[in-house]
Amino acid sequence: MKKACDEMAHKDTFRGYGPYEGYEFLRNAIVAHDYQARGVNIAADEIFVSDGAKSDVAHFQELFSADARVALQDPVYPVYLDTNVMAGRSGAFANGQFAHVIYLPCTAENNFAPALPKEHADIVYLCSPNNPTGSVLTRAQLQTWVDWALEHKAIILFDSAYEAFITQPDLPHSIYEIAGAEKCAVEFRSFSKTAGFTGTRCAYCVVPKALKLTDGAGNTYSANDLWMRHQSTKFNGVSYPVQRGAEAFFSAEGQAQTRKAIDGYLANAKVILRALDQAGLMAYGGQNAPYIWLKTPQGVTSWDFFDKMLNGLQIVGTPGSGFGLSGEGYFRLTAFNSPEQTQKAAARIAAGLK
Ligand SMILES: *Cc1c(COP(=O)(O)O)cnc(C)c1O
Repeated sequence: MKKACDEMAHKDTFRGYGPYEGYEFLRNAIVAHDYQARGVNIAADEIFVSDGAKSDVAHFQELFSADARVALQDPVYPVYLDTNVMAGRSGAFANGQFAHVIYLPCTAENNFAPALPKEHADIVYLCSPNNPTGSVLTRAQLQTWVDWALEHKAIILFDSAYEAFITQPDLPHSIYEIAGAEKCAVEFRSFSKTAGFTGTRCAYCVVPKALKLTDGAGNTYSANDLWMRHQSTKFNGVSYPVQRGAEAFFSAEGQAQTRKAIDGYLANAKVILRALDQAGLMAYGGQNAPYIWLKTPQGVTSWDFFDKMLNGLQIVGTPGSGFGLSGEGYFRLTAFNSPEQTQKAAARIAAGLK
């Protein structure tokens, strides 16, 4: 990134507007490391580099009509729901839910794996590894979703911002590891959680050339063409130094450094899980994700538990009810801290919540 800044300071190497979809050097590195290395056939012209997976998942719904039906996991990363509300697609709000949204409850009872929708959906958001529950969809579960989407002409918007946290070798990192997914799914990835780019800003989404969208008259359109049109109309690309920084993540040194950081967070997650176990609390996630999703004690709401943690232990987490109705009675902790701070907090949990 420093070298790229120096280039920008000299007339001969200065770069102005770059390609809307991102520089080829970065898209090639993404294809080689994130897809070809896992035996997945994705081409560089199916990659769109952006300033964040949040903006990508927020904007992708703009390709769909106002009456498209949306299905999403409950609890959910709020961006999927709120952007559809802003787009006027959600219907009226009553008793904590929107009338036209199809909610797919994910609780301990179904092992946090959403059941297929009972009514027709046009768009389904899936997040795996999941924020907030920390659960991961298996190959077989994802295949069921892909088969369903192909049969019902639905589009899966697959958010794998946390794929680098997967430790179990049999779990899929990309939806394109599943047969048929290139015809029904868009994938969103980010450098934020894998390489500490939350402040630097860089992400990408994959829109396969084989993916077609159908209008009300039955005409089909290339989703890749439509997304290029969307991005070139509303976005002028990610800054050159930032894209060089993202490229550096794929270098041997970048890979080793970020692996070490992620392994550190996963070690923190183990420390937190052990403390919760000592405190007698049921907890999920933390093995293939940076999030621990704990069940609050019987009769204690998410917000009651928040107050208990904050006032009693000076530990801050996120009340599960903030992610949807099915999040009530749960609480999210994250492993994104130093080992020292994590151990300090874990000791308080183990001693204080007994
Ligand atoms: C953090 C997060 C993102 C946002 O990533 P950015 O690239 O920083 O915008 C997307 N999806 C999920 C599920 C996240 O938790």
